[in-house]
Amino acid sequence: MSLIVTKFGGSSVATIERFKAIAQRIKKMQDEGNEIVVVVSAMGDTTDDLIELAKATGSKLSGREMDMLLATGEQQSAALLALTLNNLGCDAISLTGWQAGIISDSTYRKAKISDIDTNRIKTELQSGKIVIIAGFQGITPGGDITTLGRGGSDTTAVAIAAGLGADRCQIFTDVDGVFTADPRIVPDARKLSFISYEEMLEMAILGALVMQPRAVECAMLNNIDIEVLNSFNNNPGTIITEVGNMEQDRVVSGIAHDLNCAKIAIFDVPDQPGIAKTLFKALAEGGINVDMVIQSAMRNNHNDIAFTIDRDELPKALPVVEALVKKIGASDYAYGDKVAKVSIIGAGMQTNPGVAADMFEALADEDINIHMISTSEIRVSCIIDEEQTKKAVLALHNKFNLNETEQN
Ligand code: ASP
Ligand code: MG
Repeated sequence: MSLIVTKFGGSSVATIERFKAIAQRIKKMQDEGNEIVVVVSAMGDTTDDLIELAKATGSKLSGREMDMLLATGEQQSAALLALTLNNLGCDAISLTGWQAGIISDSTYRKAKISDIDTNRIKTELQSGKIVIIAGFQGITPGGDITTLGRGGSDTTAVAIAAGLGADRCQIFTDVDGVFTADPRIVPDARKLSFISYEEMLEMAILGALVMQPRAVECAMLNNIDIEVLNSFNNNPGTIITEVGNMEQDRVVSGIAHDLNCAKIAIFDVPDQPGIAKTLFKALAEGGINVDMVIQSAMRNNHNDIAFTIDRDELPKALPVVEALVKKIGASDYAYGDKVAKVSIIGAGMQTNPGVAADMFEALADEDINIHMISTSEIRVSCIIDEEQTKKAVLALHNKFNLNETEQN
């Protein structure tokens, strides 16, 4: 007998028909002799709809009241799934996050789970019940309801799997798993059978569509394998695991791209200690997340500093930069919002020199100009013109033979 924690995302519970379909799946798992804990998201776009309703009040969105509201979405799903299972003759019970013992800090709308008391879940399992838990929610030690950030049901599932020492943790979604590139751009993108936690985190944009990054971090910390599966079919999915569990002959695992990028350059910045601090502190205080940073070589005691930010933060960033240019004695600044970031990701890069050069070659062969470059141990990213994104992703997918069958 295995203990399985299985999570169904919003699209998997969008309609009553979908509840019926996943209830059959859950019943089958139970009939095979497993103990089952199910974590559910809110139905379809419920969370977005609730946010719109709250905005329509015209009020400033208080975190506490928002969480009180948003947590109701997942509670509906949990109860509806329990009813659907009951109707199939299965003994199922739904629990809210707090009934399931999920304690969080009080950072409303993106609270972190601080503790789980699994006693209630265990008692219900022992009495033979399928336990259904409303994802994405917790309670503070003071008794206030919180939510865990968008996509937070993934984190609920992984944290519960860790707390219970489950044998398996499955995340059901509406795609077959994690792909080598966005299939909307690369028609022959391939589903990966395995991906390491680190690669999955580096695939931020690609990965985030499939799983909340915080859930991946939680799985990595607790050493839990996650199976990403499609609730609309029975295809094998992707297993997110430790890199040691995979064969390492894959140099590049995937290509990610991000269109939410903007570039800002500040010219003739005096070359003195403390300038970068002043600049980036001011941006941080303005709540602006800086991604890549380049500082040019010094000439005449001045250099240029360029960096990228999320494009949707540009309106917030420009006034900060404008004020800073004067303050630090730079000559001027410029920005571009028609740029994109393309990245190659692969744990095998650490042991294979020349991967970055291959990437630059693939882009050069397509006449694509690189504005900025950044690297980590398992990723190389380039900022390019937005209009060349598709061409770049296709060229890179080809260059690293990602459409070929997997070796692992
Ligand atoms: N319902 C929440 C959201 O849409 C949480 C989740 O789906 O995991 O973000
Ligand atoms: Mg969702």
